Amino acid sequence: MQVTCPTCRRPVDWANAPDRPFCSERCRLIDLGAWLTERNAIAGEPASDAAGQPHEAESDR
Ligand SMILES: [Zn+2]
Repeated sequence: MQVTCPTCRRPVDWANAPDRPFCSERCRLIDLGAWLTERNAIAGEPASDAAGQPHEAESDR
């Protein structure tokens, strides 16, 4: 049985993939990192001013 790695879209042999559904630990970490980044972008947006960003970012409202 084959599945598609969510990160790099390569076919993954399910039975021989210890990091399934990812093709490798690397892809698993990339996907996890992207997920965390997305959460941080949403959850951390109001507080991003405190991180040293200038106030020019207000223009997107
Ligand atoms: Zn992959």
